[in-house]
Amino acid sequence: MKSAILSVGTELLFGQITNTNSVFLSQQLNLLGIDVMYHYTVGDNPKRLAEMIRQAFTDCDLIITTGGLGPTQDDLTKEIAAEVLHDELILHEDLLKDLEDYFIRINREMTENNKKQVYLPSRADIFDNDAGTAPGFALEENGKTIICLPGPPREMTRMFQRRVKPYLEAKTDSVIFYKQLRTFGIGESKLESDLQQWIDGQTDPTLATYAKEGEACLRITSKRPTLEEAKAAVEDMIEQVNEKIGPYVYSYDDEEFYLVVGKKLLDKNITFSCAESCTGGLFAQTLTEVPGISAVFDRGIVTYSNKAKMEELGVRQETLSQYGAVSEETAIEMAEGLKKATETRLCISVTGIAGPDGGTEEKPVGLVYISAILDDKRISKKIQVRNISRKWNRNYTVLCMLDIVN
Ligand code: ATP
Ligand code: MG
Repeated sequence: MKSAILSVGTELLFGQITNTNSVFLSQQLNLLGIDVMYHYTVGDNPKRLAEMIRQAFTDCDLIITTGGLGPTQDDLTKEIAAEVLHDELILHEDLLKDLEDYFIRINREMTENNKKQVYLPSRADIFDNDAGTAPGFALEENGKTIICLPGPPREMTRMFQRRVKPYLEAKTDSVIFYKQLRTFGIGESKLESDLQQWIDGQTDPTLATYAKEGEACLRITSKRPTLEEAKAAVEDMIEQVNEKIGPYVYSYDDEEFYLVVGKKLLDKNITFSCAESCTGGLFAQTLTEVPGISAVFDRGIVTYSNKAKMEELGVRQETLSQYGAVSEETAIEMAEGLKKATETRLCISVTGIAGPDGGTEEKPVGLVYISAILDDKRISKKIQVRNISRKWNRNYTVLCMLDIVN
């Protein structure tokens, strides 16, 4: 089944509200195995709304609209839906009774225009609204279905879960299952070329790569008659792609990198501390977002000046003057100083040039040194971050630090 999501509301076009309804509906339709072909957004304008519905029906069998079901003048969705599918609005007496009871319950007077909400297409399957007043409905004609839902997200999502999902489940004969893999250290284009053999000529499961703030993600999707079959197909594909990209994958469940790393430190009971220069505490801040991290996180020290690096961490004056603050030698001495001061199992340090100024030919903006000690293992790494902005450089540096810990 091919579908389109049609969001109605001038405030969406003005950018006054974010279209969360279409995101929710896309995710839900995906889970039901219904392909979403289009997202349309249209203002409260009857002519353009009718045009959009007609256009969507040229290659979709299902349209879901949200918004414009309320009692006010500009709420026109159902009039237009009925017009396009050759039906007319009639007063539904049973709904009127419910509405009157509702207003008595909340002790408010029912105005005449509220009645407008219980005029619905004569052939509609009606979805009651247990979180508001405007009912939704489904209307069919010659294999085309339009489902109209209220705009307020709380009402829409409840109505979808309670009423629309069972309605659609009865109409579909397949289920979609997908997994989102997250990787670090492999660019999106390299990820795609590594996966080319599966991406070429794919039918089911399908593979799609996409970039996400310095990381590359992979979605593996299968559409099968049952959830078990779809799951098995996805798991099997994961096993295959793992041979190529396994070392880069840090999550098979779309988890944030810092959460994965934080959980690992907690699970393995690795106490840790950090000494940061260019990231100014961002690494510590990121890991302290992990609930319960106090069980293993000892301290984070921000040593921005040379003086602080010497006083707090015992970095030697000679090291700083010979190699500079941004050098492997300094990073190593920072980590060693931290080890002495804290005796935590993992000590990680970072020093680099965040930019936008301060780079030289020899040491360009984005040059970063990270040094880590875990028990008696020591590594240090030179990284050249692709200089995009000070913010990006610092954020990306933290991802590199997480990658080393991981
Ligand atoms: P009401 O009875 O409240 O008038 P309605 O079905 O007529 O409901 P709209 O008037 O179109 O819906 O929207 C009501 C409110 O719901 C909007 O002001 C907005 O806050 C929210 N809303 C509408 N559409 C969306 C959307 N696509 N995404 C997120 N929020 C939305
Ligand atoms: Mg409205």
